[in-house]
Amino acid sequence: MSSPPTAVADPLDFLQEELTSLVRRGLYRSLREQAGEPAGSVAIGGRKVILLCSNNYLGLATHPWVKEAAKQAIDTYGAGSGASRLVSGNSELYQELEERLARLKGTEAAIVFASGYAANVGTISALVGRRDAVYCDRLNHASIYDACLLSRADIKRYPHGDTASLERLLRNSPIRGKRLIVSDGVFSMDGDIAPLMELVRLAEEYSAILMVDDAHGTGVLGDNGAGTVAHCGLEGRVPVQMGTLSKALGGLGGFVAGSQTLVNYLVNKARPLIYSTALPPPVLASCVAALNVLEQEPQLQNKLAENAVFLRQGLFGLGFCVLNSQTPIIPVVIGDPHLTMQASEALLEEGVFVQGIRPPTVPEGKARLRVTVMATHKREELSRALEAFGRVGRRLGLIR
Ligand SMILES: *Cc1c(COP(=O)(O)O)cnc(C)c1O
Repeated sequence: MSSPPTAVADPLDFLQEELTSLVRRGLYRSLREQAGEPAGSVAIGGRKVILLCSNNYLGLATHPWVKEAAKQAIDTYGAGSGASRLVSGNSELYQELEERLARLKGTEAAIVFASGYAANVGTISALVGRRDAVYCDRLNHASIYDACLLSRADIKRYPHGDTASLERLLRNSPIRGKRLIVSDGVFSMDGDIAPLMELVRLAEEYSAILMVDDAHGTGVLGDNGAGTVAHCGLEGRVPVQMGTLSKALGGLGGFVAGSQTLVNYLVNKARPLIYSTALPPPVLASCVAALNVLEQEPQLQNKLAENAVFLRQGLFGLGFCVLNSQTPIIPVVIGDPHLTMQASEALLEEGVFVQGIRPPTVPEGKARLRVTVMATHKREELSRALEAFGRVGRRLGLIR
């Protein structure tokens, strides 16, 4: 009988080593518990603080119609869906939700996935493969990059928003298989809007498929929150429009809107849709209700835009390095990750919850406070938040 080897290194030792390295570089992440609803204020550590880092832009996650719809759906359909949509999880609520999303986006059809992440992974890996090429804005969301890797297509990155570079890539790369251009509509960490007009032109000129990820534009931009494509007046010219139900719509899920053929194709080919369980009925019902609110309370969108202008101008006026954006995403760039987290902690002590965003979510040297505003914030809350920013900014030497 052979004896077990003695004193071998634990093969999981690298876990603690990597975590220690993250702490040293100021990049360690941990989960912070939050109590109560994601409304204008939340409770953290038993204290009420102003919430300035939620993507629940319109406050729909806590809207009474939305909450009521979820409760009723549980009574009617139960709490869970029990299987993948292609097996036995395809609740009739999906059809209503998909019809409504297609109407919102002005497309023939739409298909709902379990999350925006799953929608990107499923769609991109179904559209392109080994011999194809994907053209990606450098600041596209991580889920797009993961999707591209999974697809095994050749990934060609172009500098953020630089359509001249994109055109050079398109002109100079040999055409073998299909070409897909994919871009965030509103960039998640910078809040700026993609140069969609140019992307449409290039896609048409070079026979590329164009896909826009409108996670942050849906519900926020365009008439009735139709999104970035409508905001840019490009209805009918972006064949693959992805979006999420988990941000301005306050629920959970991702979707793709486009032609009926595209939807039929994804039902057959998108693996996250085929091999993962359907969304729970209360989630589907609450998303339908959120779309009702979107149609019937357009003033929420206006309030959101007003609040964004107020907070952006306030932060700019204090002297912070605020990136220029036209959305509720207001990035305050600090640069150093340690200092960014120090600012986030100091703001929390002052009663304002803003999350620090560090590499690899944003490029090296571009750590920032990603401030997001909501339609439900009261002016008085935003003024108090600005005062706190002023005190913390001066104390840490970020502003004078
Ligand atoms: C949040 C986000 C996603 C993922 O959506 P989820 O519904 O949260 O999974 C995809 N793309 C972008 C640009 C995002 O900001």
